[in-house]
Amino acid sequence: MIRSKGWSKTDVGRVRRQNEDACFVYTDDQRTIGIVCDGMGGANAGEVASGMAVRIFSQALLEGGRSPEELIRQGLEKANREVYRHSRSHPACRGMGTTMVAVFLLDTTAYILNVGDSRCYAAFDGQIRQITCDHSLVQEMVQKGIITQEQAKYHPHRNIITRALGTEPSIYGDLFVHPVRSNERLLLCSDGLCNELTDQELLELLSMEPAEEACSRLIQAALDNGARDNVTAVVIDLQDTANQ
Ligand code: CA
Repeated sequence: MIRSKGWSKTDVGRVRRQNEDACFVYTDDQRTIGIVCDGMGGANAGEVASGMAVRIFSQALLEGGRSPEELIRQGLEKANREVYRHSRSHPACRGMGTTMVAVFLLDTTAYILNVGDSRCYAAFDGQIRQITCDHSLVQEMVQKGIITQEQAKYHPHRNIITRALGTEPSIYGDLFVHPVRSNERLLLCSDGLCNELTDQELLELLSMEPAEEACSRLIQAALDNGARDNVTAVVIDLQDTANQ
């Protein structure tokens, strides 16, 4: 049996005045949940959107009683509906929205949901792999062969996302089913983290021992590099119980 444990941390960064990121982590005997949302909108609307999305989606997953795919789909639809309604009925929140990357881990299967450009990475055996695919303008340009992945990182339009939660009446998320292994680590993060660090740096910090240190070291490294945006990380560590 594989036991999982998670940690989360968020920081306003060195430039922004408000933190529009939100995160959540939860573990019990059967499941682990991790969520990162990166909100957008005027005034403090981004914070409202990311906070609402995390709260509604996590509650929906914790209800249980249905298949993980159903819980995720219904939770996403509910979060989208409520954020969208709130933005329509509160002029200060008009047009707000948020990204969402989430992992719902049951036994040895991680169900990973993505909307927008927050990311999920998996580190295993000295390698790091991005599991999610960004819904962003630059990612579309990479797929069409117009720019390289490296150019995307510094592109002036790298912040433009092509899908968000709460901006339209309906929503589609990408769901990845990822079988986890003992000694694997998962990272969920906002773009404020992965834009400040290379994949190699992410891998080294994410693989740190003890695992609880990894989260704060990742955030600190982004701060040391200037943290031009809000920075958020959720780290999930997976261990075979036979090794404990
Ligand atoms: Ca951001």
